[in-house]
Amino acid sequence: MKPPPFDYHAPRSLGEALEILAAAGREGKVLAGGQSLIPMLNMRLTHPRHIVDVNGLTELATVEAGPGGVLVGALARHAQVEHSEQVAAVQPLLRRALRLVAHPVIRNRGTVVGSLAHADPAAELPAVLALLGGSVRLASAGATREVPAGAFFTGPLESALRPGELAVSALFPALAPRSGTAFHEVARRHGDYAVAGVAALVVLDEDLRVVTARAACVSAGPVPVVVDVSGACGHRPWGSADWRGAAAAVRDGTEPEADIHASADYRRHLLGVLAERALTEAARQAAQEVERKAARG
Ligand SMILES: Cc1cc2nc3c(=O)[nH]c(=O)nc-3n(C[C@H](O)[C@H](O)[C@H](O)COP(=O)(O)OP(=O)(O)OC[C@H]3O[C@@H](n4cnc5c(N)ncnc54)[C@H](O)[C@@H]3O)c2cc1C
Repeated sequence: MKPPPFDYHAPRSLGEALEILAAAGREGKVLAGGQSLIPMLNMRLTHPRHIVDVNGLTELATVEAGPGGVLVGALARHAQVEHSEQVAAVQPLLRRALRLVAHPVIRNRGTVVGSLAHADPAAELPAVLALLGGSVRLASAGATREVPAGAFFTGPLESALRPGELAVSALFPALAPRSGTAFHEVARRHGDYAVAGVAALVVLDEDLRVVTARAACVSAGPVPVVVDVSGACGHRPWGSADWRGAAAAVRDGTEPEADIHASADYRRHLLGVLAERALTEAARQAAQEVERKAARG
């Protein structure tokens, strides 16, 4: 199928892009990697009158990894973030998650910020941003605002983005000391969107007791579902914490829906199994990190 007719704009600067978006209002759509927008246009699921192609804004193709976290510009491709050793050192969950996103050819073109803006509850990166407590920077002609992940995702394919706004970057906070992460999912075929998935973050103290344990679930509701199970782990040593009980609490904190791929019950079952795997792996990663640090002195 062919897309509905639209006016195509290719701004050469951020200021120009914001002016075009301001004039277009509700009729404007940003084109980034096009890996979600182009299929939606071709299937006539969206009918914008103005497409604002931001691929010429090379100033937004940035990835900065520092002590505060990883700041990803709007034009940074999935692959650019996935393959960065600096990113992997500052926040390893990004690489873990990105390897589960589609196929390399799609990751070469699709953007991290585009995936957040698309706000698909089956996508990995919104769950990562929500789990880590990251944020998205939104710009419009004359204003910018920083929206925390918890307020950014508002429904399936819906976000806090207003007409005229462009998401210019996203901040994924750095991994804290004595922390570990993991991401497990089940997809019908490798590279497909997940039927269910769980990202986990575990923080230990110096005696390897669980301080924080959190999970973010994919395909578990209209937005990424974050469940804090620190209490369920009762500040116990990570090796004897009740991870099965914690995983059950994660599962019970979700309300997945049925679709053509899975029943709601099957999804809930998967979320429990995946949560246990992700939480225990994240705890193991955290313990190894503590041991590596102790060995280094
Ligand atoms: C076969 C296939 C399999 C896939 N599998 C997965 C998967 O397993 N997991 C997964 O997470 N994704 C998957 N994707 C989607 C892929 O990750 C997309 O790249 C991503 O969702 C959107 O990024 P994009 O840069 O291509 O955005 P686009 O397609 O260009 O845009 C998507 C939406 O976001 C808006 N948008 C984009 N950038 C901005 C911005 N900076 N500011 C404001 N609005 C913006 C657009 O207007 C549009 O509404 C798959 C895609 C395909 C084709």
